[in-house]
Amino acid sequence: MRNDTPPRIAVVGGGLAGLTLALALHRAGLECRVYEQAPQLGEVGAGIQLAPSATRLLHRLGLEPALRSLAVEPAAMEFRRWADSSVISRGLLGVHCEQRYGAPYYALHRADLHRVLVEALPRGTVRLGARCTGVEEDPDGVVLRFADGSEAGADAVVGADGIHSVLRRALVADRPRASGQSVYRGLVESRRVPAVVAEPRVLLWLGPGRHFVCYPVSDGRLVNFVATVPTTGATDESWSGQGRVEDVVAAYDGWCADVTSVIGAADEVSLWALHDRAPIERWSTGRLTLLGDSAHPMLPFLGQGANQAVEDAVALAGCLRDATSGTLPAALERYESMRRPRTTQVQERSRGNSTAFHLPDGDAQRERDARMGTPAPERQDWLYGYDVERSLAAHQPA
Ligand SMILES: Cc1cc2nc3c(=O)[nH]c(=O)nc-3n(C[C@H](O)[C@H](O)[C@H](O)COP(=O)(O)OP(=O)(O)OC[C@H]3O[C@@H](n4cnc5c(N)ncnc54)[C@H](O)[C@@H]3O)c2cc1C
Repeated sequence: MRNDTPPRIAVVGGGLAGLTLALALHRAGLECRVYEQAPQLGEVGAGIQLAPSATRLLHRLGLEPALRSLAVEPAAMEFRRWADSSVISRGLLGVHCEQRYGAPYYALHRADLHRVLVEALPRGTVRLGARCTGVEEDPDGVVLRFADGSEAGADAVVGADGIHSVLRRALVADRPRASGQSVYRGLVESRRVPAVVAEPRVLLWLGPGRHFVCYPVSDGRLVNFVATVPTTGATDESWSGQGRVEDVVAAYDGWCADVTSVIGAADEVSLWALHDRAPIERWSTGRLTLLGDSAHPMLPFLGQGANQAVEDAVALAGCLRDATSGTLPAALERYESMRRPRTTQVQERSRGNSTAFHLPDGDAQRERDARMGTPAPERQDWLYGYDVERSLAAHQPA
């Protein structure tokens, strides 16, 4: 790379993080290639919630018409008690989000979001069947090595390769931490669960040792659910697989009819043992950086992993926009120094919710419910009100 030419960026991983970065780089006029290990592109059959801090960015990347046509905009998020479904708190989303934060709150099918991203990219951006096994960095560039023996060069590489990241190994020798909790995920037809779709909402029922979340996706035709339970038995690091509906039924025995009706409508469920990793001190070198779950894998109890990845992607593209060979290390440093404090806070809060959501009935639970039930519209401002592009402007290089 000459000192004055724009950098060529290699992205390892074609999940939501890698594809959003590819789109943000493309919009910034930078050349980028995504290397994805899977033979085909796709996402798991499950839902995803996107908050205004991410949707404002996806809209600016040109995805607003597609997202508005596919997503559900829930009117509210309600926390409820496990046994009688009484409401602990109700936070307004819908129009309220648009008014307060200038961007919507979306509930989507993951495959829809993934497809919208792929379709927005120039053809040939993603190379499939490319499992990266290692990367070598020198002062002039990086060389990626793949399982099939091939190699590729670039000026910088971004690891968007998820919680098991190969690229992260170049920086730190940590391992995923088991949370002791697993989730069953499923999709059911909305017409089979009329009580929970009467109004489009994100619903969370909190109970001792477990909680249950559901919300509509796919233009309201399907309801996505996530049922958290204590992990039983050993889990290794390939922790996703098929679950059994009867185990979810047993785990939620005695819960309110709203919850058991959703579980009862499921024909199949997937099972995931939840892991995260502790925040790290550094996630970049001169020509390598991390993004999304490879940088800051978190428990899903704030629904923020993909939201943070979208913020990362726009921040990184913004830092790289004007970079040259000489300034590349400084651009990666700027990206990391902007993103690490925020993603660390989100990782820690997500972990904190794994205790708060699962309190046994008693004094601590009543205190939690009273606190959550106290109206505080500003409670989510730090999360939803954040605009990474404003932050970029404030983090100008010296
Ligand atoms: C139950 C549950 C619910 C969640 N709900 C939400 C939510 O509502 N909102 C939200 O924002 N987040 C949510 N999350 C978190 C969110 O799913 C993740 O943070 C997000 O999907 C991470 O995207 P990623 O692209 O960083 O990683 P991944 O999705 O893991 O993608 C990594 C990609 O890299 C590829 N790859 C891996 N290794 C290699 C390699 N060596 N070479 C080439 N390719 C490779 C993989 O095949 C994959 O395509 C939830 C998570 C869970 C478990």
